[in-house]
Amino acid sequence: MQAQRLFSPAPIEQQPLRRVEVPVPEPGPGQVRIRVAACGVCHTDLHIVEGELIPPRYPVTPGHQVVGVVDAIGPPRSPFLLQENGGNEAGVGQRVGVPWLHSACGECEFCRRGQENLCPRVRFTGFSVDGGYAEYLLAEARYVLPLPDEICDEQAAPLLCAGIVGYRALKKAQIQPGQRVGLFGFGASAHLCLQVLRHWGCEVHVFTRSAAHQRHALELGAVRAMEAGSSLEQSLDRAVVFAPAGELVVRALESVRPGGAVSINAIHMSAIPSFPYSTLWGERMLCSVANATYRDGEEFLALAAALGIHSTVTVYPLWDSNAALQDLKASRFNGEAVLKVS
Ligand SMILES: [Zn+2]
Ligand SMILES: [Zn+2]
Repeated sequence: MQAQRLFSPAPIEQQPLRRVEVPVPEPGPGQVRIRVAACGVCHTDLHIVEGELIPPRYPVTPGHQVVGVVDAIGPPRSPFLLQENGGNEAGVGQRVGVPWLHSACGECEFCRRGQENLCPRVRFTGFSVDGGYAEYLLAEARYVLPLPDEICDEQAAPLLCAGIVGYRALKKAQIQPGQRVGLFGFGASAHLCLQVLRHWGCEVHVFTRSAAHQRHALELGAVRAMEAGSSLEQSLDRAVVFAPAGELVVRALESVRPGGAVSINAIHMSAIPSFPYSTLWGERMLCSVANATYRDGEEFLALAAALGIHSTVTVYPLWDSNAALQDLKASRFNGEAVLKVS
């Protein structure tokens, strides 16, 4: 099979992903093999390819927003095994999504509390194990997500990380219907979150440098789109920071009212500059968002189908993954890039 693999990290301009021919992997116990149809391109992939996030081994195949069809089940090749594992009936021929969370231990205090996203033995798709920039990948049967029929492959891919983790960020910011919410940065995740917030009747203010992203936000129903640091007539109730720029965390905190909250939807971020205690004072809350749980995935996909959430996508062939990541780095498209695999 063909795969786009990373042998050593380098700036994306040097095209570090290489097209290679590798054997089709065989599923082990509890695993399924998935024939990949489409895979979303996440900002985290760029951090991995450029070496800001270091995977446990090279080469590695990135990609953790994978849509495909189960094509083989590991021994004992029985659907009952899958049901025992997680109530998930992923059978051969079923269309599924593979998110960032590849597996967790299932036994530690975090897993037992339903916080498997914080499990110390957690493993990630396209990082700890090979991901979806390939024609096939292996996944743990209990962590694959059945996909609603009404969402096509290219539309579904961005939902699997940008959507699910964004949805968790909205929950961690404790957003209530009707509130004034600020989104700092407007890429793949924010453009999906905006649609959820509109459904909740929130008034959404978007802060981004890119004029194209500002227009995109207004088209999707933001009341204002402007550069971060622009003055606001009234404070925000809640804010979510998407862009991996530490200074935006301070901008966001300065924009929320006393008792407000800011969540940070970023796996990697530049250092947050020091700020006076008065910026946090007034019971403002600040919270990072680490990955997402299986439950977040189920909830968000059901919501996306019910609301008809639309992903803005730019489609590239699998072997153009370097170009897709370069365009992401330069903010050359709105929404998300999706690799079409088969
Ligand atoms: Zn655990
Ligand atoms: Zn991601």
